[in-house]
Amino acid sequence: MASIFSHAVAAIGIGACFYRPGTPKRVWVIGALCSVIPDLDVIGFRLGVHYGDFWGHRGFTHSLFFAALVASAVVLAGFRRPAPGLGRFPMSVYFFLASASHGLLDAMTDGGLGIAFFAPFDNDRYFLPWRPIHVSPIGAGRFFTHRGLEVLQSELLWIWLPATLLALSVWLTRRRAVPST
Ligand SMILES: [Zn+2]
Repeated sequence: MASIFSHAVAAIGIGACFYRPGTPKRVWVIGALCSVIPDLDVIGFRLGVHYGDFWGHRGFTHSLFFAALVASAVVLAGFRRPAPGLGRFPMSVYFFLASASHGLLDAMTDGGLGIAFFAPFDNDRYFLPWRPIHVSPIGAGRFFTHRGLEVLQSELLWIWLPATLLALSVWLTRRRAVPST
């Protein structure tokens, strides 16, 4: 995995593209949560689930289908009545992208097994051809090592920086689009 903070940062960067004034803050918080939910599969390690299994790490919970399930469930459960600002359809697209971005970023890491993007229809694991992000150690303790620092550097460069640039460019574009009075 990339670390959970970096997944959340990616979700906030994506959220910037969906920003509408008046949207409740919980929408962005939930988006960030959607981006870290897939890694709940690490619980499986304690339950004897193998890495390469359907329910194993980077398996079904990292698939596009799971991202669609999460997005639909969140909107159905939490936003039965439309909230101000962002409509329910773009909101579900946002939650989907936030959750799906997790597998995409993991597929750009240089370790572990690939991602079961197409589960449950195809349980093969895939990486992207380009994998510049150092894989994050599982478990916070091991994060504070030299290796942890390298991981942090690669995540800052390949996740935090693009997410910030994305948010900044959306903000600048919108600012320019607002007619000055
Ligand atoms: Zn992951």
